Amino acid sequence: MLNNIEHIGIAVKNAEESIKLFNALFNTTPYKEEAVVSENVKTVFYKTGETKVELLQATSDDSAIAKFIEKKGEGIHHMAFAVTDIYAEINRLKSEGFVFINETPKQGADNKLIVFLHPKSSNGVLIELCQEII
Ligand code: ZN
Repeated sequence: MLNNIEHIGIAVKNAEESIKLFNALFNTTPYKEEAVVSENVKTVFYKTGETKVELLQATSDDSAIAKFIEKKGEGIHHMAFAVTDIYAEINRLKSEGFVFINETPKQGADNKLIVFLHPKSSNGVLIELCQEII
């Protein structure tokens, strides 16, 4: 089963500019900034109450984030749900007919194993499953 929303991912053009905005919005500073080299993104994480927000900035033109912003502009990019057993959830959701972008979990930002469901099988919403690496 899917647990809580672990974070919401927001695609931004310029993380430095967005940090100023979100610092003011949340009245706090990011707890982590991390490059995910394999995805050509820079990530910035905020925690406000129980909720985490991940800002995503492309670091190259062929990054998925660059393509997203080109098509749709800045904004909400994905919702991430925490799972306890990512492999069990992948099997369960595949048997329900969901399509994954990658079926093999990979190392994501913030110490997580992650996979993405293809938005075409989830009403246009890009959904990430993430499991904390212990
Ligand atoms: Zn994410």
